[in-house]
Amino acid sequence: MITQETARKVLDEALKTGADLAEIYVEDVTSLTLGLEDSRIERAIRGADRGAGVRVFFGNLVTYAFTDSLDEASLMSAVQAAAAAGHGSSQAARIDLTERKSPLRFEIQKPFDSLSISDKAAILNRMDESARGYHPAIQQVTANYRELSRKVWIFNSNGVQVADDRNFVEIAGQVVARKNGTLQTSFAAFGGQVGLELLDSKDPVDEIREAAEGAIKMLDARPCPAGEMTVVMCNGWGGVLFHEACGHQMEADFITKGSSAYTGKIGEEVASPLITAIDDGTIPGRRGSLRFDDDGTPSQRTVLIEKGVLKDYMWDVVEARRVGRETSTGNGRRQSFRHMPMPRMTNTFIDQGEHDPEEIIQSTKKGIYIKSMAGGQAEIARGDFVFNATEAYLIEDGKLTAPVRGATVMGNGPAVLRQIDMVGNDLALDPGRGMCGKFQTARVSVGQPTIRIPSVTVGGTDEPVSGAMSV
Ligand SMILES: [Zn+2]
Repeated sequence: MITQETARKVLDEALKTGADLAEIYVEDVTSLTLGLEDSRIERAIRGADRGAGVRVFFGNLVTYAFTDSLDEASLMSAVQAAAAAGHGSSQAARIDLTERKSPLRFEIQKPFDSLSISDKAAILNRMDESARGYHPAIQQVTANYRELSRKVWIFNSNGVQVADDRNFVEIAGQVVARKNGTLQTSFAAFGGQVGLELLDSKDPVDEIREAAEGAIKMLDARPCPAGEMTVVMCNGWGGVLFHEACGHQMEADFITKGSSAYTGKIGEEVASPLITAIDDGTIPGRRGSLRFDDDGTPSQRTVLIEKGVLKDYMWDVVEARRVGRETSTGNGRRQSFRHMPMPRMTNTFIDQGEHDPEEIIQSTKKGIYIKSMAGGQAEIARGDFVFNATEAYLIEDGKLTAPVRGATVMGNGPAVLRQIDMVGNDLALDPGRGMCGKFQTARVSVGQPTIRIPSVTVGGTDEPVSGAMSV
């Protein structure tokens, strides 16, 4: 995208002003979005965006400029703007850039152009027909298809030269069922860092039909009881709770600011001994996976909590330099070339436990089982959360009984983590729908086995769910 010689000249220009580190991040993004509403394709948008960001470090002072032209003159103007804070005149040594390859294999099998746009639109039409055909009470259906290719090149004055190629397919549907003035919304969303081979393993028609089935079932459900009670949470997408209410607090920027419950707690017991939690950016096919992060650091698997003991945080280059830590954990991520990276989760999950999920239900005398959740809200710096269930059931004498509507679960993430008393052996990652919104958007995965929280506040409400796709 830009030559090694151009990169070297631009980086040299920054070092001449006394900077101790300079970086160029180049990005080329193409996308296709199709949207269906009211049984018609309402949107078909092709997107293309490319440019570069130049970041210059003077100790802990970090400056940034970006450009959407990639010619040498534009890059030189960007670096001069970013390096304007410098007043040194160091004799920069020649930067020795050597391209480094990742051992991670994330290649896609079926490229996006292996289906035509009309074939992709036909998928959405079939989803619409399937959901509406399921039951006359299904009164609204929306469906979306998105494919995105994001190519990234990073050069820095420490000699780093890396490239990454990230390809995503995302398919989502929403159904609204209505009966006697009661509305029930349900979602189906899946995807990953994959090509169109995604469609060989998942059928969008089955997925939205399942959502329709869930919505119809919940229409007749009784209101959820409110109060302190035992909650059993589903595997997979249930991990959104850990991501939102605990994971963010293990991101190094919250740690170095001292605003996190986990600041200064490395080596201490911060969770039930049943809890091991991991951030792993190396898993093929997952939305949060990276060969190299947006600082150019190789992605890695980081154990955050091991058997209840806090082991590490998630670091990017800026925060690692701030505390004199030698390497980052490969968690530097940015929304686009217009943004500076910050510490972000990749694929974050509570690890496998020992309990059979059936046994977890059987050993619960009274409580709520949350089978499916929408999003919710969390105050990410403290971990106070409110989450909405889209499908939930009463547990009575060790059995799942009546479906209940409008269940919300609220509490504090770090406190809940200490309480969890059963962890299932059914670890699953989410179906591929997570989008994290910490100041900038980032694709992520979340996951967990079935878990049991002995006592947490449950509220019953008929408020519509919000934030269905965000984590
Ligand atoms: Zn998040």
